[in-house]
Amino acid sequence: MQPDSRGYFGDFGGRFVPEVLVAALAELEAEVQSAFASPAFWDEYHAILRDFVGRPSPVYAAQRYGRNNGGAALAFKREDLNHTGAHKINNTVGQALLARRMGKKRIIAETGAGQHGVATATVGAKFGIPVEVYMGALDVERQALNVYIMKLLGATVHPVEGGTRTLKDATNEAFRQWAARVDDTFYVIGSVVGAHPYPYIVREFQKVIGVEARRQCLEQFGRLPSDVVACVGGGSNAMGIFAGFLSDTNVRLWGVEAAGEGLESGRTAAAISAGSIGVLHGSRSYVLQTGEGQVMETHSISAGLDYPGVGPEHAHLKASGRAQYVPVTDSEALDAFFEFSRDEGIIPALESSHAIAFARKLAQERGPDDLILVNLSGRGDKDIAQVRNMRR
Ligand SMILES: *Cc1c(COP(=O)(O)O)cnc(C)c1O
Repeated sequence: MQPDSRGYFGDFGGRFVPEVLVAALAELEAEVQSAFASPAFWDEYHAILRDFVGRPSPVYAAQRYGRNNGGAALAFKREDLNHTGAHKINNTVGQALLARRMGKKRIIAETGAGQHGVATATVGAKFGIPVEVYMGALDVERQALNVYIMKLLGATVHPVEGGTRTLKDATNEAFRQWAARVDDTFYVIGSVVGAHPYPYIVREFQKVIGVEARRQCLEQFGRLPSDVVACVGGGSNAMGIFAGFLSDTNVRLWGVEAAGEGLESGRTAAAISAGSIGVLHGSRSYVLQTGEGQVMETHSISAGLDYPGVGPEHAHLKASGRAQYVPVTDSEALDAFFEFSRDEGIIPALESSHAIAFARKLAQERGPDDLILVNLSGRGDKDIAQVRNMRR
């Protein structure tokens, strides 16, 4: 669906920003309307996705994983095969095209683990636009390899010292930097979060996942999936695949949140399952917050899901009942990471492992005629050093 004229999906979304950014967001919205109405814009976007990113990504029917108890068949949309190893590049290509169209001289981005920073630095290099990345100082220490890769690609990385020195603080800083230099700066947001029109823009650039996957299911299996499953951090890979199936009302949609050590443990990142409605980073949605509205510290084994909010369109899909949101713990995701690697010869990202873990549980409840489509949002190479120190 389209957000309404105030940028709301039902009761969620909006534009809760300081005065200076209201005009910048309105300018962006006007530009997006003209770009999205232009076939030439989309032709260029799709040509880059084909030649630079390697799309379309395949849909792959699992051979062994989850096939042992006679449940539903599992198929995987292979976003892990994209250039840079995840779905994030679909969005950064699109936003870099918008930045160039608007004549902006500089791109800024926030990053947590560094995956969005790398995807942004990659398109900055490709388009010849300088990129500055804001990253929590703790994350800079924890993700030294991605910091190096961003620099290798020509980007500048600014460690952010405030707060918990993680993604939430990096996002606050990126908004501040944008407000300070809106005239020549384009802010590339990494998920379907932030003030209107960002959740809409990012979803439109990730929608290619669902549009391709729907066609591929019909071609390869002669039917639509019974269920579509994706992990949810901010929610961009999930919104991207869901978007292809929203009007197929008999296809059930499942968003899998990172429960961390458990919903009740206080060490979780499941904003819908364990949070409440509030405002974070410019829009109204579910937030992990205290009774006083203080944003809580989050935890997940997977850095890409370790965020206290969730995109407003997911809050709306939850409210309308069109999608369901379920938690998967660190330990369940880690089991799926190992088992999927061994059974399929594909090492999934820890983020994607949350979706894989839930899909297997669901497959056991469904019959052999059902088909569960899982978004394999990224590859796990980035997680190997972390996992290696944990077990087995
Ligand atoms: C960043 C990331 C995610 C989480 O972000 P969403 O916006 O929720 O998609 C999931 N999977 C991978 C591989 C990522 O890099």
